[in-house]
Amino acid sequence: MRKYRVGILGATGTVGQRFVQLLDGHPQFEVTALAASDRSAGKPYSEACAWKLAGSIPRFVREIVVQPIEPPLDCDFVFSSLPSTVARETEEAFARSGFPVISNSSSYRMDEDVPLLIPEINHEHVGLIERQKENRGFTKGFIVTNPNCAVISFAPPLAALHQKFGVESVILTTFQAISGAGYPGVASLDIVDNVVPYIAGEEPKVETEAQKILGKLTDGVIVKADFPVSAQCFRVNVVDGHMVSVRVNLKKKSTLEEVVESMRSFPSLDLHSSPEHFIEVTDEPSRPQTRLDRDNGHGMTITVGRVFPDNIFDYRFVTLSHNTVRGAAGCAVLNAELLVSKGVM
Ligand code: NAP
Repeated sequence: MRKYRVGILGATGTVGQRFVQLLDGHPQFEVTALAASDRSAGKPYSEACAWKLAGSIPRFVREIVVQPIEPPLDCDFVFSSLPSTVARETEEAFARSGFPVISNSSSYRMDEDVPLLIPEINHEHVGLIERQKENRGFTKGFIVTNPNCAVISFAPPLAALHQKFGVESVILTTFQAISGAGYPGVASLDIVDNVVPYIAGEEPKVETEAQKILGKLTDGVIVKADFPVSAQCFRVNVVDGHMVSVRVNLKKKSTLEEVVESMRSFPSLDLHSSPEHFIEVTDEPSRPQTRLDRDNGHGMTITVGRVFPDNIFDYRFVTLSHNTVRGAAGCAVLNAELLVSKGVM
């Protein structure tokens, strides 16, 4: 099997470290370049990076010297986990220089010619890449993105419901982990013994991205799903794992059994990082719980529970995913595996 040489932009950060961890021993991808800010550039990764994941820094990256975030890098394509303040300009520069960019940042997610991918749901949106290249004058390079880390918790169960019954409207509340703010993130004195009902810039993303993901690619254009989403986003005192409480109205009548079955039977893919179950539905009354369920499917499974008829909406449920794995680096690695499997890279 051909091995692709990959670079990581923002390699020293919370998501960048997750990329390093997930790419250790990956059968298709080999990390050959790491890039971060001026603070880190020029240093070996082991010196530049304050490693915050369990275990020590993997051997294969320790001696790689961190580069500035400028093309070219010594690789075939790049994963990007840069803050949105620098991502837009930098990702375009890499794409223009011929590098496919698989991004976590919000900068390009809602651009009409940029795929916003959850491979199990909308892999056909990869079809936008050709139009993007034409629009922007890219030759070999392009940009694909993965969703906001809270959206990835609820878009999958909504996709299952939308496919079978049509989603009419959604109200949701998120309970988001501290690591979602990167490192050092929220100050401990702000989050210990506390719940913060505000995450800057989050609610607009959470209210709009799922409609693009669940949209249909028709004649080179994504026709977005037309349901409204009303969201409130909370930062809570857990390290990893975004939980979302969802209430949904459906277009067609459905039984509770049909609703649960639509989620349970939503297929996973057959890619290296695909979990066995894309959506796991638990009947345990007290689950999902963040600490107990965020690592399901090596952090790539979406866990849904407490699915019930609601007094005001048709149904309610709770959904959970790991924000730095399925919600960031894991989804991006899956996106790259998808692009390889479709012959796009
Ligand atoms: P982070 O922990 O703050 O890491 C940021 C990374 O970007 C570091 O490697 C940092 O390098 C680098 N960087 C910062 N400013 C830079 C600059 N001006 N020029 C070049 N490099 C710069 O953030 P994160 O949580 O990993 O998030 C990264 C991106 O992923 C963001 O766009 C975020 O919205 C998105 N995202 C995060 C999550 C999550 O759960 N955390 C989930 C989904 C998406 P230095 O170490 O050298 O400063």
